[in-house]
Amino acid sequence: MKVLSVASELYPLIKTGGLADVAGALPIALAAHGVETKTLIPGYPAVMKAVKKPKKVYEFDSLLDERATLLSARHEGLDLLILDCPQLYERSGGPYLATDGRDYPDNWKRFAVLSKAGAEIAAGILTDFKPDLVHVHDWQSALVPVYMRYAEAPEVPSLITIHNIAFQGQFAGSLFPYLDLPGHAFYEALEYWGTLSYLKSGIITSHAVSTVSPSYAEEILTPEFGMGLEGLIASRGSDLYGIVNGIDADVWNPSADELLPSVYSATTLKKRAGNRAALNERFGLDADDGPIFAVISRLTWQKGLDLVPEVLDEILDGGGKLAILGSGDSFIEAALQGAAAYNRGRVGMVLGYDEKLSHLMQAGSDIILVPSRFEPCGLTQLYALRYGCIPLVARTGGLADTIIDANEAALAAGVATGVQFAPVTADAFRYAIRRTLRLHSDKPLWSQMQKQGMKSDVSWNRSGATYADLYQRLVSKGQ
Ligand code: ADP
Repeated sequence: MKVLSVASELYPLIKTGGLADVAGALPIALAAHGVETKTLIPGYPAVMKAVKKPKKVYEFDSLLDERATLLSARHEGLDLLILDCPQLYERSGGPYLATDGRDYPDNWKRFAVLSKAGAEIAAGILTDFKPDLVHVHDWQSALVPVYMRYAEAPEVPSLITIHNIAFQGQFAGSLFPYLDLPGHAFYEALEYWGTLSYLKSGIITSHAVSTVSPSYAEEILTPEFGMGLEGLIASRGSDLYGIVNGIDADVWNPSADELLPSVYSATTLKKRAGNRAALNERFGLDADDGPIFAVISRLTWQKGLDLVPEVLDEILDGGGKLAILGSGDSFIEAALQGAAAYNRGRVGMVLGYDEKLSHLMQAGSDIILVPSRFEPCGLTQLYALRYGCIPLVARTGGLADTIIDANEAALAAGVATGVQFAPVTADAFRYAIRRTLRLHSDKPLWSQMQKQGMKSDVSWNRSGATYADLYQRLVSKGQ
């Protein structure tokens, strides 16, 4: 089966969050199931610089009046189609935000053009690649199925995956005439309270909708989590699927991780000490035995990290330390930086994004904090499981689906892998920290939990097979 995946970020080339990890790992997992994937991505500077010997495969004369070249290349096991359109993608900021932290004003066009290119590939412009199915991700490629629906081309089944429904790609309704769609597409697909919603239009026009965990698939049917799209999603009924993300078990492998000072496995957990020492040093933490709590995250309200300063005394009074890596909302950054400045030796912070350091933190710290208010799947807790770092998580979305809480029954059965709490309030969070500290003080129990987590299959094996089944079902249905 041939699949066209369209994504606005792709690990290892360009990443702002979990979407890149999934878009990068899924093609490799699916290859084992006979699925041949090509991934269409924008030609951002980081992409153009990294790929070797790209080949021109198509010239677009006018994608919403823009000229663009389609390149093909292979990079680290991935087959890429790169949309080279410097006027849209050659920017000095990130994929979505300029260096001043604001959205690029032409994001509506940057991702509509990407989507239009995707729809044309689906329609068969490439002689050697006619996809049997198109898989799009989030609002940035959500217009692909819309363009496909309104094109006079053979119908190809499509799947949209929602990685985070909070980001919907909402733009002024007055831009509609520039999208090169027939007038009736406005009310049939795109219109959302007078504006344009790219995500909504993708949900309406795709053959199936998936999200990244079974719990999140249920949550987005409710007003609390559906962010206004709950009714629309409910209308898709049995076309909605929840498939939990896996991780790249080669990139994240503590026994062969070249980014670590000390590699280890479930049978050599003592060797984590080498990473712990490096972590203490990097974050300016005291070299004592206190449990190290870690945060590796976007620092946003969604992630619940505004609560960390409120519960910090619970960690410190219990003899713990805190290492924070992240960037995000300026008030959360400032609060955490303040906490680090007032608690030298006990709290350390690195502001920014640092993939290498994130490996060291998973390998050297004891507990990873993921107090998200909502979490479609979450990857950080999966890396933690693999690295013998105990996840302390909010009971929501993928966190609820992937972590087994250390309650009495789970402890007795030896299956606990972490600590969950709900609701996401400072009180419940504090109580969870106290529970975690108690568990940590029982060394045999703690190492049993670490080993149990390290045994969990967090790779793409299972979910790769589930996606392959879903693809097959959609293709068979379309025939
Ligand atoms: P989201 O996609 O909502 O940000 P996920 O947990 O699904 O959250 O994925 C986030 C990914 O980005 C994880 O791989 C996490 O470890 C990583 N990450 C987040 N912030 C940082 C950072 N500051 N430095 C390094 N890695 C980070």
